[in-house]
Amino acid sequence: MEKQENRRVQRLVLVLFPLQGHTTPMLQLGSVLYSRGFAITIAHTRFNPPDPINHPQFDFLVSGTPNIEDVESINLNCQAPLQELELQKQTAYSQVAGVIHDSLMYFAATVANDNKIPSLVLRTSSAAFVQAYAALPHLLAEGSFLFQDSMSYEQVPQLNPLRFKDLPVSRENMALTLELIDIVSKYKRSSVMIINTTDCLEHLPLLQLQQLFQVPLFGIGPLSKVASASSTSFLEEESSCIAWLNNQTLKSVLYVSKGSLAMSDEKELTEIAWGLANSDQPFLWVVRPGSVSSSDWTELLPQGFREHVGERGLIVKWAPQKEVLAHFAVGGFWTHCGWNSVMESLSEGVPMISCPQFFDQKVNSRYITYIWKVGIELDGELERGDIERSIRKLMGGREGVEIRQRAIELKQMIDVSILEGGSTYNALNDLTEFLLTNKI
Ligand code: UDP
Repeated sequence: MEKQENRRVQRLVLVLFPLQGHTTPMLQLGSVLYSRGFAITIAHTRFNPPDPINHPQFDFLVSGTPNIEDVESINLNCQAPLQELELQKQTAYSQVAGVIHDSLMYFAATVANDNKIPSLVLRTSSAAFVQAYAALPHLLAEGSFLFQDSMSYEQVPQLNPLRFKDLPVSRENMALTLELIDIVSKYKRSSVMIINTTDCLEHLPLLQLQQLFQVPLFGIGPLSKVASASSTSFLEEESSCIAWLNNQTLKSVLYVSKGSLAMSDEKELTEIAWGLANSDQPFLWVVRPGSVSSSDWTELLPQGFREHVGERGLIVKWAPQKEVLAHFAVGGFWTHCGWNSVMESLSEGVPMISCPQFFDQKVNSRYITYIWKVGIELDGELERGDIERSIRKLMGGREGVEIRQRAIELKQMIDVSILEGGSTYNALNDLTEFLLTNKI
């Protein structure tokens, strides 16, 4: 039977980058725009494809790359299939009103521009991070960023409240940084920027970005809150952990996850395990298969750990995170500070222990601890005593009262932003209007 959406007049082509933290918000954006009447085509790679069963309302276009490659190769491999779509050709019912692409899939802007179709870039990180990234070439050129600065607590000029140590650059990742800076200059070609954040969290960075890029900019986040709840996970979610949470008391459980990319070694795993065990707090801990070097899953957990924690702790391979954070029993989130995780936590009023490693995570951590004051940072090499103290402070201590209260207030502000008249609500209306008329 013909799909209902083929009869929709305006079609949008959404171009995914094949990592979990990039795919999730783009699919969420697709759901939101589908609910506003657009037909949606999802263009994706063979590597890490979305599961069409979870998104029966979308059409899918597969192209290139069965493996993860460098960003440039992915872009080269994906260009031809999108070009072949002949974006300007109208089908019996629909015409392509716009191409929305991940910031790392800059080829899509070129194809859209060649076809005289609006191209919109979706930024899946915070506005503050986009701003920091855009400032890097200038900082590097004028020499104000020296390599030793990547440990410095000194304030970065014009990037308040970031310190040099919060910037996503170090001697080790310099080559990748330069490659990504090059990409930033490429996506400036897109006519419009959509960003998964909201005014009550990032008022100033959003204003500054607007000035910097001089393109229409829509802060339509948190997408996890405004989109329908269909799963976007590449790994199977262990829903059985919800039954375990049901048996725990109100706000007693610490949820622990490092997202889809971060790795640990045996030493770190051991410190985390004993920190959790000694905190006496119930915990739900995600250990992704393959995320601990030299092991498949949890074989390297220290001897005596499981006996020590008994029923108080549950370890899973992958959790239904949004559901977990919304659960009454969850009172804290020990996070690596990936932007999706941060937004999901803020949306549910869950305070955080922030433990950033790379990319945008240190910028996000700075906002969690210093600007929004909804978390405490675990800095440097992980050690069981520090971990235990941080958990006690966040979950029960008098010191954590203000942090927990502030997290609830921020959740209320986010709730307001997505209701009629709120900034996200308005930005989504403006984006829809732009796509329908190509005018603001
Ligand atoms: N996630 C999940 N289950 C888990 C761990 C993570 O569903 O057990 C989801 C989480 O909800 C988030 C995404 O994976 O939407 C991770 O994205 P994020 O930006 O937080 O971090 P990244 O994986 O990109 O480092």
